[in-house]
Amino acid sequence: MTKPAPRVLIADDDAVALLVAQAALESAGFEVLGAENGSVAVTLFAEHNPECVILDVMMPEMNGFEACRTIRATAAGANAPILIMTSRDDVEAVARAYDSGATDFTSKGISSRLLIERVRFLLREYQSRQALVVSRGRLRMVQKMAQIGHWEVDSAGHTLHVSSVVRSLLPELTAARSHLAQLASALRSRDGRKLLEAFRGWQASRAPFQLEAEMRTGTSLHIHGTVTPGTDTAGNATLTLAVQDISTLRRAQQRAYRLANFDALTGLPNQAQFLDALTSELRIRKTSEPLGVLVFRLRGLERLQQSLGQAACDAALVSTSRLILDAIAHEAGSTFAHLGGGEFAFCRIGCNSPALAASVARNVARVLAVPVTGEGWTANFLVSTGIVMWPSDGQDAYTLFENARTTAARGMSAAESRHEFFASEVQQRALRLIDLESALHGAMARGEVSLAYQPRFGLADRAVRGVEALLRWNHPELGSVSPSEFIPIAEESGLIMAIGSWVLHEACRQAAIWRSKHGLQLTISVNVSAYQLRVPRTLVEDVLAALRCSGLPASALELELTESMMINAAGETLAALHELRSLGISIALDDFGTGYSSLGYLRRLPVDCLKIDRSFVSDLSADEGAERVLQAILGIASALELRTVAEGIETPAQLEFLRRHGCLEGQGFLLARPLSTDALEALLTESVAITATSSSNAA
Ligand code: C2E
Ligand code: MG
Ligand code: MG
Repeated sequence: MTKPAPRVLIADDDAVALLVAQAALESAGFEVLGAENGSVAVTLFAEHNPECVILDVMMPEMNGFEACRTIRATAAGANAPILIMTSRDDVEAVARAYDSGATDFTSKGISSRLLIERVRFLLREYQSRQALVVSRGRLRMVQKMAQIGHWEVDSAGHTLHVSSVVRSLLPELTAARSHLAQLASALRSRDGRKLLEAFRGWQASRAPFQLEAEMRTGTSLHIHGTVTPGTDTAGNATLTLAVQDISTLRRAQQRAYRLANFDALTGLPNQAQFLDALTSELRIRKTSEPLGVLVFRLRGLERLQQSLGQAACDAALVSTSRLILDAIAHEAGSTFAHLGGGEFAFCRIGCNSPALAASVARNVARVLAVPVTGEGWTANFLVSTGIVMWPSDGQDAYTLFENARTTAARGMSAAESRHEFFASEVQQRALRLIDLESALHGAMARGEVSLAYQPRFGLADRAVRGVEALLRWNHPELGSVSPSEFIPIAEESGLIMAIGSWVLHEACRQAAIWRSKHGLQLTISVNVSAYQLRVPRTLVEDVLAALRCSGLPASALELELTESMMINAAGETLAALHELRSLGISIALDDFGTGYSSLGYLRRLPVDCLKIDRSFVSDLSADEGAERVLQAILGIASALELRTVAEGIETPAQLEFLRRHGCLEGQGFLLARPLSTDALEALLTESVAITATSSSNAA
């Protein structure tokens, strides 16, 4: 698209001169509007909005000055180039022309060529002026959006120019002819000094500078000083300060910092901040004096939340954090953090001994011994405190913190508030052994020990053949302890004799009840410890007493012994086993395959049954070699005419494989887990019913 020709309005009452000028301008490519006097020119200007106006001075109705003034007063005419044609050498007319707002003047009778060039120049100059106006407008807009203003001062610091943004930002500073020192004094004193220093530096070397400063009113400013060469009246360099209000940015940064480092609920430092503080403390630490780190865990929070809801819980946490804060003598060099939920952490530089750390923990427990109350809620918290000491319990902040945390978690089941020092895994195991051993004494008397029963099934018909009695120990604080963990302790401490005897009596008693109640040929298997076997006479007596007391036939009892026990069995032991077998009691080799009995030895042992260790069964799913091993074990059993029971059957595929390869019986989670007396009772009732139905069907 071609650009439309620029439009020129020319007013002259001299019709000939008008025609000549019109023709010349048209030939130069302009669109020309002609007016015979000033008032016609004003009308045409309003209608056509020409880019340039040429006015003769002397015209009827309205002269050129008048017309110029009228056009200038309109919005469209405010900046339009207006050329006034005066008579040659009429100096007064020139002055009047400028007074009435003319852009320029020319003398009447100027040649057509010159007039054309004059108009072209005026248009070019107008266009670049317009472009400048637009770009200044854009700059102003951008500055306003970014809240950046500029402030120009001379080399002595006096204001030369202030942009509107700066004016609205700092109204009282920029109202009168001000000095940079006034800005400096409106800043916080330290920042004011920084600005003046930077300004002096600029005066000396013209070095640009930037600084962030805060005004006494709290507004944050970013000030960037640059040199603008040769712009004051004397041609000296001036200083332009770009001034930006960064309060919003600062607030957002502060908020982000708060969110990242502080707990929103309590306002306390959070875990990240705690670790940072501890890391820096350890890094700058010049002494090897120990440092205590404590983690507190509140107990009772969950209960509070369930009964009174989250709001009460939050309120209780806030109150409690204040109480703990008071109790721990929070001071310089200490950090108290809320890790979330009911967990808090604390470290203090002066806390340099376990005794001091323990006293901090006791203070916290003491303040929490009193119920914390609020509007509509009362919280009774216990606190479990884990204490670690740097450097013995960890070199770095994270390890220390984690160790304190796990230590605090350990005390969570205690019935009262307590603190505990960190113990390494080895120490912990030793401590647990001590705990377990002391708890095991009297466990039977307190009724914490019971038996679970895992049924043994015929793999072909899935009928219950027998049950294995498995010891269970449930301690009120230590929870349920696995027999693999406590039986070795019972053995070491000698308690196994009493426990083993109790198991025999209890298992026989229960089996006798089930047999008579359900009319089943059920056998009961009892695990016997190597320690029991070391005193064979006692074992035999115990067994006989258990059978006698329960009325259980000897053929319904099976004793499970491990291969390793048998290998070490001395003559007296073997004799006892033979004696037991002669009574009709059967002997099973438990965990078969994990020991080292040779075939020759196995053949001579007084055993009736091999219990194939769980590991062979579970390997079945994993590799093919395992199938061959199992087949070999089953082959040995069959060659020695021993019964086989597979342990730990967990999948139908394992069961199917064992059945196909001639294993007669099995135990495992697939068939049934170890069950309580009641649960086993239910299972037996059910299986008796099934057997009855199937036999009546067969009949
Ligand atoms: P065990 O005699 O070989 O008993 C079998 C163990 O395997 C039991 O563990 C049982 O719960 C577990 N088990 C059974 N089926 C499966 C299964 O499908 N998958 C898996 N993963 N495990 C299965 P428990 O009750 O923890 O007993 C562990 C060991 O403690 C017993 O091994 C036994 O050696 C000993 N023990 C248990 N009760 C007594 C007891 O009264 N006296 C003695 N001296 N030792 C006992
Ligand atoms: Mg067993
Ligand atoms: Mg076993």
